[in-house]
Amino acid sequence: MTTEHTSAINPIFARRESEARSYCRGFPTTFTKAQGSIMTGDNGVDYIDFLAGCSSLNYGHNDPDMKEALVEHITADGIAHGLDMYTDEKARFLEAFEKIVLKPRGMENYKVMMTGPTGTNAVEAAMKLARKITGRRNIISFTNGFHGMTMGSLSLTGNAGKRGGAGGGNLGDVTHLPYEGSLGDVDTLALIEAMLNNSSSGIDAPAAFIFEPVQGEGGLNAASKEWVEGIARLAKEHGAMLIVDDIQAGIGRTGTYFSTEAMDIEPDMITQAKSLSGFGLPFAALLIKQEHDVWKPAEHNGTFRGNTHAFVTARVALDKFWADNAAFEKAIAEKADILEAGLTKIADLVDGAYLKGRGFMRGVNVGTGDLAEDICARAFEKGLIIETSGADDEVVKVLAALTIPNEVLERGLDILLDATRDALADNQTLAAE
Ligand SMILES: *Cc1c(COP(=O)(O)O)cnc(C)c1O
Repeated sequence: MTTEHTSAINPIFARRESEARSYCRGFPTTFTKAQGSIMTGDNGVDYIDFLAGCSSLNYGHNDPDMKEALVEHITADGIAHGLDMYTDEKARFLEAFEKIVLKPRGMENYKVMMTGPTGTNAVEAAMKLARKITGRRNIISFTNGFHGMTMGSLSLTGNAGKRGGAGGGNLGDVTHLPYEGSLGDVDTLALIEAMLNNSSSGIDAPAAFIFEPVQGEGGLNAASKEWVEGIARLAKEHGAMLIVDDIQAGIGRTGTYFSTEAMDIEPDMITQAKSLSGFGLPFAALLIKQEHDVWKPAEHNGTFRGNTHAFVTARVALDKFWADNAAFEKAIAEKADILEAGLTKIADLVDGAYLKGRGFMRGVNVGTGDLAEDICARAFEKGLIIETSGADDEVVKVLAALTIPNEVLERGLDILLDATRDALADNQTLAAE
């Protein structure tokens, strides 16, 4: 299908880029520019961005203050790469993180470990550290969980298709247990507790529990406060580390800096990546409770641990958005209300559809992956970038920037409503034929 919204794609991609390429297939345009919540294609079309780099661009594209600070840093021959040497910008980032994120939340007891620059490396570091501390191998992860694509993180991931990329099968030393709500009315917490307390259940004593407070790739399943606190209690009772993977749900996505701020838990480790740099630059970190920071120097080395350019933009992001935490949380909450109202209209159109997620991390389960994908493809034709999520891609998922102007958010939701109407109308026509 060719419309004004698709352009001729340079054949170099099909000819030379690996078949592993993915998002480009759903958005067949060549992008040349981006600002805020708008991405522009080489066809001159402005697309509203409801994907935001899978929540790597929570402050939108090319935030002017981050851009200015970064350009200034580069122009002044600031450090571009310094391994993990001490630099002025690493100090400024850590000071801002301590003052703006850790102290106001009573989290002075956490150290910041610079891991390799992708989220999956922060997860690998957490797994290694949990096993090193406890001397145990088994890690408990959850159905529909997603934690990254390297071998360790992938072993935690539920999705068989994703594990298929490594040849499939059990990648080792992981027990997958049911996430809240994944078994209908079954009380998964009680089930997990019974399994762990049964020495003949076959589950080895765990080194760690790792979970996403809202499952990003797994369909926007949001765990309740009671469930999360229950998992934290079980981790403590069984001498296991509690690892919160906040890579997608964190940094404001659910309405607060960390996605578990309303829950009474003290994770032993918290992973951060995606929007940590604020600018879309690669940057990941692992927060570790001080008493667990038993690494020896260089035990989790890597060439790109700490990205100096990302330190610059991450520090500006903290100063600009989180220094006045209450104001930013309020702004996100207002947008979350608009999002909920818009998604409710969409859910009302589709038989059996319902809303998923929490805060500004929401979507609609429309029942089937075919319908969700059809809606997203039509939305793109109308100038909206949006993706699906869930085991069968059955959830239309909105990850707009937290800074999206209300008017643009509403326009995007209108496009999504139109796309849903069109998809349903065509499906009905097809069914009638
Ligand atoms: C994206 C993601 C990861 C992996 O991060 P990468 O930067 O893609 O390696 C891990 N956990 C969660 C919850 C994620 O959403």
